[in-house]
Parts: sequence; structure tokens; C-alpha cells
Amino acid sequence: MSTFFDTHAHLDYPDFAQDIADVVARAKAAGITKIISIGTNFESSRRAIQLSERFSEVFAVVGWHPTDVLDAPEDIREELRKLAQHPKVVGIGETGLDYYRLPSKDGKHTPEDDERYKRKQAQIFEQQLQVAGELGLNCVIHQREALNDTLAAMERHRGHVRGVFHCFAGDVGQMQRVIGLGSLVSFTGILTFKNGQNIRDTLAATPADKFMLETDCPFLAPVPYRGKRCEPAYVKDIADVAAEVRGCSLEELSRTTCGTADSFFKRLKDP
Ligand SMILES: [Zn+2]
Repeated sequence: MSTFFDTHAHLDYPDFAQDIADVVARAKAAGITKIISIGTNFESSRRAIQLSERFSEVFAVVGWHPTDVLDAPEDIREELRKLAQHPKVVGIGETGLDYYRLPSKDGKHTPEDDERYKRKQAQIFEQQLQVAGELGLNCVIHQREALNDTLAAMERHRGHVRGVFHCFAGDVGQMQRVIGLGSLVSFTGILTFKNGQNIRDTLAATPADKFMLETDCPFLAPVPYRGKRCEPAYVKDIADVAAEVRGCSLEELSRTTCGTADSFFKRLKDP
């Protein structure tokens, strides 16, 4: 059986509170040998670390999500450095920029609120890039409708920090801009959706050593589970489609995607 990793899961979300041990066991049975649980704020990052202590196949990424930044302290660096000392922390994030749902869209907030939100996102993103650079870790990047600003921030840290642009949904040109900066992309169950042809086209054009696979669970369950709770075992269903799109064997896809993850995420190979 070919083995794969789930490089982006939110195992600490309440969706998994009742049956986390079964979820991890099902992943193992499906050949998903490593799962990276991604923090979205300090509490979530601590829970990800706790899960990594409980399950040998689980690793943690610690950081603060761009859509949560209004709850973040002004400076998250000191606490982030402490969290990142844990031997099973393999990266910083998820971080980045998200201009999709700005405060003024509710009709009650003002354009000034939008600017304040974007400034705080940029500040918290920059702090995470700095800490990642100091500690020799890479970043898990969340980007939505903010590609130019996100790439500009990565450019300032070029040569020190690389990012994986998770849940990648861009076109071939956008993928090339990301990998041109030394960063990577990763693909979710959207690959399996009927209306996911543009993403399959991007995957087909991505160099074999520049992408990874992920679920982003509990979100984005692949076909045939679409609309249900997603879990790491479903990486297998994503891998089946990815291998077909690339015209390669599952063995080859396993070797390239796991090799890429092992070299991108520090301590994933030898915790
Ligand atoms: Zn996520």
C-alpha cells in the first residue's frame, strides 16, 4: 500500500472531539502515516501540540490565522517562540493574508475598519515570518484574495523562510509565481470536485517536487464524501485523483509528496 501524509489538518477542532482516536486510527489504516495539525491561535496551537504528544503520527504547526487577528495581542513573537520549541512542532502558521471577508461587508463597519484589519493581518503575518526565520522553520500560508501582498511579504524573507500555499486554488501562472519565490503549493479535496478542473490543470503543470497533499479537514471532504466531515484518511481519495491527473503511479506520488513534506517541515522526518 502506498503511504501519504496529511500536511494540513485541524484535528483540534471540536468536530473531532468525540472520536479523535478513531480518526487517527482510520488514517493509519488508510496508509496516512503522518498528520500535521495546524494551529489557528495560541489555544489551538497548544491543543495541536497536545495531540502530537498523544499520537506518534501527529505533528503540530503553531501560529495565528489571518482571519483571527483581531483577537491577537500586538506582539505574538515571544509566546510563538516558546511554543515552537516543542520537538514535534514542524512549522509556523497558519498565517498569511485574507481579504475575502472584510469587516465592512456587514454594512456596519467602515472602510477604516477594513484598513485596521488588514494592517493587523500584515503585522501578525510579519511577526510569524520573523520567528520562522529565526528558528529555521517554514510557514504554512493561508491566502485569499491577497496574493500580491502575500507574495510581497514572502519576497522580503526570501532565502530565509519558505511557505506552503495551502489549499491552493490558483491557476498555472499563480502557481509559477509561488514556486518562483522558493515556496510550495498543496492541494486539497477540491481536486476531486466536478468543478475543480482549473485546479487539476494547475496540479498537472506543477513540478513533481513542488507540491504536497492535504485535507484541510474538517473542511473540504473529497468526492465521494463531499459535504460530510472531512478527515485525514481521505488523503487516499485525493491521492487517487492526483495520480490520475499527473499520469503517475501511486508509488511515485507517495515518494515525491512525502519526500517534499519531509524536507519542507523541519523535524517531520526525525522528530
Ligand atoms: Zn487550515
